[in-house]
Amino acid sequence: MPLTMETPLSRVLGAKTASVMAEQLNLQTVRDLLRHYPRRYATRGEIARLDDLQVGDRVTVLAQVRRVNTRQMRNRRGFMTEVTVGDGAGSMQLVFFNRKHGQLREGAWGLFAGTVGEYKRAKQFAHPDFHLITGDDDEDWARALIPIYPASKDVSSWVIQRSVKLLLDSSGGFGDLVQDPLPDELRERHGLPWLAAALLDIHRPTSWGDVEQARHRLKWDEALVLQLTLAARRRASALEPGIARPRAAGALLDAVDSALPFDLTEGQRAVGEELAAELAQEQPMHRLLQGEVGSGKTVVALRAMAQVVDAGGQAALLAPTEVLASQHARGIRELLGPLGRAGELDGAPDGTRVVLLTGSQKAAARREARADVAEGRAGIVVGTHALLQEGVEFADLGLVVIDEQHRFGVEQRDALRAKGNRPPHVLVMTATPIPRTVAMTVYGDLEISTLRQLPSGRGGVASSVVPTAEKPAWLDRAWARVREEIAAGRQAYVVCPRIGEETGPDDEPEDADGAPEDGGGAGRRPPLAVLDVAELLRSGPLAGLRLEVLHGRLPAEEKEARMRAFAAREIDVLVATTVVEVGVDVPNATVMVVMDADRFGVSQLHQLRGRVARGKHQGLCLLVSDAPTASATGQRLAAVAATSDGFELARLDLETRREGDVLGAAQSGSRSGVRLLSLLEDEELIAQARAEATALLETQRGLADHPGLAAEVAALATDERAEWLEKA
Ligand code: ADP
Ligand code: MG
Repeated sequence: MPLTMETPLSRVLGAKTASVMAEQLNLQTVRDLLRHYPRRYATRGEIARLDDLQVGDRVTVLAQVRRVNTRQMRNRRGFMTEVTVGDGAGSMQLVFFNRKHGQLREGAWGLFAGTVGEYKRAKQFAHPDFHLITGDDDEDWARALIPIYPASKDVSSWVIQRSVKLLLDSSGGFGDLVQDPLPDELRERHGLPWLAAALLDIHRPTSWGDVEQARHRLKWDEALVLQLTLAARRRASALEPGIARPRAAGALLDAVDSALPFDLTEGQRAVGEELAAELAQEQPMHRLLQGEVGSGKTVVALRAMAQVVDAGGQAALLAPTEVLASQHARGIRELLGPLGRAGELDGAPDGTRVVLLTGSQKAAARREARADVAEGRAGIVVGTHALLQEGVEFADLGLVVIDEQHRFGVEQRDALRAKGNRPPHVLVMTATPIPRTVAMTVYGDLEISTLRQLPSGRGGVASSVVPTAEKPAWLDRAWARVREEIAAGRQAYVVCPRIGEETGPDDEPEDADGAPEDGGGAGRRPPLAVLDVAELLRSGPLAGLRLEVLHGRLPAEEKEARMRAFAAREIDVLVATTVVEVGVDVPNATVMVVMDADRFGVSQLHQLRGRVARGKHQGLCLLVSDAPTASATGQRLAAVAATSDGFELARLDLETRREGDVLGAAQSGSRSGVRLLSLLEDEELIAQARAEATALLETQRGLADHPGLAAEVAALATDERAEWLEKA
């Protein structure tokens, strides 16, 4: 049987190689391997860049053996071999214990892969893997550009290189193996090379020009396939009507409007009109509401929810944390008063119920809540992930609202959406503004509304970095500022990346979005912990203040009680993990000190800081870090401190995170098929691909004339294959 893109690698490679490749790199088929592109290309003369490496990084370098020295160890039995490798300017030590490596002779060139360690202040590799450049593969290695592949523990870059080579040199002819999925006409119109040529060039380039061209073409494939998938979804959902929920002269919306203790901003009013009009359509609304932290998104959502309840449906609000869910439930109940307590003694008979559903509820409470939801007594349902569970059924779910969308995957949105008898209207909210390309790609099926204006009378936040390595005294000054604010009647947050005490998997950085990978790993001290920091502050700089801790390991009632006490000003200082990141609303809190700020991502810091911008007083956010101010990390913190423009920060965030993170777990890595495409740099290309995708699907025959493309799309989402072919 001739090779195809679908051929399992086990039929092409050795059984063992194929099985570790599948296990460790998730490469199963010929397509997977051909689409496993080099991460970079090694050229001679780049070891100098080793200076940029951090202890703990895993790297592959191309270098020449300079010196080999084997000696007995003084304090232990056995011998060690030190090998110095270099490539011109730079050099590096490799160390082997009790292993002879006869091939490592002076003058030999090779690829060396290992984890960067440090010994007596010099960087070294202990027990690196290596592959010397001799013999059979001379021709490959003599190239100017040597591909370095994303590798794993047991599959090194050169094993991948050799396996790819098998495919490229396949006897059936590589050109026959690779059917070009792009319609010729499209390919020519955009001046793209054939797929086979692009694959050859990306795996075995002779110049940087080759690499550029190949990447451009391969990015096109990624963008087009992604956009086709999204366009198909848009079409599918347009075909399945929902239920119109027009504004009725209902009790609830009017009650909300007259209970609001403030006037809506112009933006809130305008977006409100937009939502009201879309809810009145049968076609389900799919809208993203983005707005700065504190711009008042919740009220906008609540008014939409009220409209749906007045029209006879139910509305569900999904929040990422229990703290936030119960805060929302409490706020909505307060606002609705008796109208939110239908069926209770003092409740209004024409009102509805506001029900809270979280994972930590007692079984009886949960049963009752679920029954209220299933039987339609609860018009408004607020909850955490518990809402998504099987067994949670709605009588008539008309509107799904997702708060802090960046905390959820598309799958979770869909899980909730699937609970409607007919497709419900969907509103997702985010304070992390989304660049246009991301909106087109990840949120390809969402329209966007933006709240640009903060409610007036807000104090804003001033931020600064406290670089403890260089200015240790500034930290004392920071605690003094906290004391001043509290003396003036305000409150403070101190945020740490970790809970503390127990170690083990439970004590991973809580919920951390994760700062970008810039080294880390071995040799770095563990992040500061809530419990330790609280103890230090209690007995030191913040002695005498009412200080409490808040973190994810506390029982839900306890968390709730502490949040409530903080809101009631019974606590001065809350030392917490990122449980306070999203949405927590205590306007009297004006200072936030973020410890180990470099361990948080840009958006996360921006979110955190939003907690002290809620009231009429000026807020203060201090980013404490021992990262040198001149380092990339220090610069990143400085940038966060310098701007409060969410759009600007979203860009910065995108630059410092890998694309996969931005796309979210559900769409990252191989499943999204996005390997080369950069949401930041390829805006133009993505826009073109979107237009082409829409045009392709608008024709009568859809993808029927383009089986290659249909196959690529199917490979992207195997489980959508059947559905896809039906529609195409
Ligand atoms: P976010 O957009 O970050 O979710 P919230 O909806 O939590 O913001 O609103 C932040 C705070 O601003 C809340 O205390 C809310 O009651 C208040 N708020 C909302 N809209 C207005 C307004 N138009 N005028 C004054 N305060 C408002
Ligand atoms: Mg909010």
